[in-house]
Amino acid sequence: MIIDVHTHINNYHEDRVTSIDQSLNLLSQTMEENKVDYALVLSSYKVNEHRPSTTQVVEAIADRKNLGVVAGISFLHYDYKDVRIISDYLEKGLIKGLKFYPGYEPFYPNDSRLQIWYEMAIEFDVPVMFHSGDTYAPRGKVKYSHPIHHDDLAVDYPELKIVICHVGNPWIKDCMEVVYKNDNVYADISGLVLGDFNEKFERYMKNEIEEMITYAGNPKYLLYGTDWPISNMNSYLKFMDQLDLPEEKKELILWKNAAELFKIDVTAL
Ligand SMILES: [Zn+2]
Repeated sequence: MIIDVHTHINNYHEDRVTSIDQSLNLLSQTMEENKVDYALVLSSYKVNEHRPSTTQVVEAIADRKNLGVVAGISFLHYDYKDVRIISDYLEKGLIKGLKFYPGYEPFYPNDSRLQIWYEMAIEFDVPVMFHSGDTYAPRGKVKYSHPIHHDDLAVDYPELKIVICHVGNPWIKDCMEVVYKNDNVYADISGLVLGDFNEKFERYMKNEIEEMITYAGNPKYLLYGTDWPISNMNSYLKFMDQLDLPEEKKELILWKNAAELFKIDVTAL
């Protein structure tokens, strides 16, 4: 069983417009080729012709039972309508979590402007995911995406389940401390590479992830994700394969942790 907790259907080749169904078909096909059983689609903090809204994604995946939605929230631009729509989706179980983009937008995770979302996530018991570490775009401000800032949030909201995306790369050591210290903090390994891992980088990351597990212990906190289409699914599975871990720990990372955290009914897949 494989659950990918981090995919996108944004179109990153902005020279052409692709339809949401084309993007979803490509995702489903790539999952099938790689024997991925379930994936979460994360919507963006921006909505434009290349980035569908949460509502568009929720409606488009309605008939695809092996896909779930995590709703991207814009720190700068959310308004009462977003609060109303998202809380409605949460109540109906149509979204599996919320995603915020510090670094791409200038805010720290513990900003009081986000309190309403955190209380909503606690009430409906869904995790909140955060972009963390390097920004794909040079216009991002990485002081905001440093994983150390999640410690504040984790302490102030012990009931909130927090996912640090990309293990805070390149600040993986800082991420491992926050994850180790706080029971309510998780991390996904997505987006560590653009496209395929090359041999040298794969060795480097293998070492980093194994070190994290040595320090933080049994990987109940670690989630498999790719950031597809930015990272390649096949190359990611090969990366998982060569991690020096017993099979039962790989299973935790590959699907068990995700199924529990996001309440994914794997018996229905
Ligand atoms: Zn992503």
